[in-house]
Amino acid sequence: MISRVKSAVTGILGGSLSSKQSALPAPSTPEKETPSVPIAKPQPPCRPSFLKLSPEEFQKSGDHNARIVLTLKTPGELHWGTGYAEVINAGKSHHNEDNVCCKFVVAEDKDEKHDGLLSDMNLNTEVQTIHKVSDKVSFYYWGLFDGHAGYGCALTASRLLHLQIRDQLRDLEHILQQTTAAPLCLDPENTTRTENISDTHEISNPTMDTAIRFHLEKQVFPESLVIGALENAFKKMDEQIERERTSHSIDGGCCALVTVYFMGKLYVANAGDSRAIIIRQGQTIEMSHEFTPETERQRLQLLASLKPELLGNEFTCLEFPRRIQQKELKKRMLYRDHTMTGWAYKTIEEDDMKFPLIYGEGKKARVMATIGVTRGFGDHDLKVYNSNIYIKPFLSCMPGVKVYDLAGCDHNADDVMVMGTDGLWDVITDREVAETVQRVFATHGTDQPNRYNLAAQELVLRTRGVRKENSWRLSTGKLASLDDISVFVIPLAAHGS
Ligand code: MG
Repeated sequence: MISRVKSAVTGILGGSLSSKQSALPAPSTPEKETPSVPIAKPQPPCRPSFLKLSPEEFQKSGDHNARIVLTLKTPGELHWGTGYAEVINAGKSHHNEDNVCCKFVVAEDKDEKHDGLLSDMNLNTEVQTIHKVSDKVSFYYWGLFDGHAGYGCALTASRLLHLQIRDQLRDLEHILQQTTAAPLCLDPENTTRTENISDTHEISNPTMDTAIRFHLEKQVFPESLVIGALENAFKKMDEQIERERTSHSIDGGCCALVTVYFMGKLYVANAGDSRAIIIRQGQTIEMSHEFTPETERQRLQLLASLKPELLGNEFTCLEFPRRIQQKELKKRMLYRDHTMTGWAYKTIEEDDMKFPLIYGEGKKARVMATIGVTRGFGDHDLKVYNSNIYIKPFLSCMPGVKVYDLAGCDHNADDVMVMGTDGLWDVITDREVAETVQRVFATHGTDQPNRYNLAAQELVLRTRGVRKENSWRLSTGKLASLDDISVFVIPLAAHGS
């Protein structure tokens, strides 16, 4: 076992891999498992319908040597005048494994409740979300889904996650309407309420709904309910993918980054290594946190220490600065476990010679030598190469959610939110993104509706770079992004228009 893990890591450290999964071939279904229903024809690859690609354009978009940057043909077509651009990877995978969604979502009436089954949908066309116009629950929605080991999971999530969110928010309609009667004062850092609710609300009102009174007494406020709705929607989405992955041939997994504008606030939910920032008056505000083997080391180690059987007697949950060699047995070495942020010394024992649960650094860090992200959808059948050790217990579909009080702040036409898959952020900093966007806006004034689209296009062009002697290079000469790149540029002043 150790030798096969070693060979996998050799590939990782050799720098030949740019995807989130190692070169180890993962079985698409558990060994000897017979599907209970016939396997459906895989969903065909496709690009977002709002790009309006002709069949010929779609074919050209998949050329890894040309890497044509795709963007909107009609400026202002997406809500708020959102800009969008994308480009395929440099050969990492056959298809563009990113997928996206941008919609204004309106709930149906309760008696039209959607049952959420993939089998009820035509996955070859974009799902229609507006069945009956209602002014009760509606929200603006942007989603980025960065797939790995196939495009199926990202495509499925791009078509269904907003419906899961809609269902969760609709169930809160009654409570949200009453709890929002109270004025809110939020700490912008952690979104916790900073004033005493009893100062502004008459909790003892005898006519008040019991559930509402409970929410107020326990200081459960609308933001917490919306965050909970998003978390539940992510959970439901992953359960649906698990349930229907065989019958609908949903391959691989995906990271998910979505923004929901609801009741005056932007909710940014992130599960994976995509990223969102706000650029306001030239300053950048982080709106997401990346989940990787390095950032989630302690969570992964804690799970492994609580359930060592998940390691299959092949891995150690301890972290060491480097691989332990046989000759170092009984010698002292630095280590850290799930309780530690710093390092300490221990005497090396036989168990410490096992392969580390987390190995590699930065973009090359892997969980069990297999996968480089720790949150997202799918990967239910992913196992360590040539073993029966499942990776999924260590992966989580739960997003981190940040809230931004959009309606409560003033914004000008140059203030935007940038959402991008990791193909963008791998080669550019937040500051460089802000400078690039500002440069585009300086030459394309507020009278040009295409300025947000041009900003998205420029970000993708800059990070894709140009092809020089069989490699893609940035203007600085450094290696450009070889990954799929997808970018939204969302004007913040447009929310009231
Ligand atoms: Mg990517």
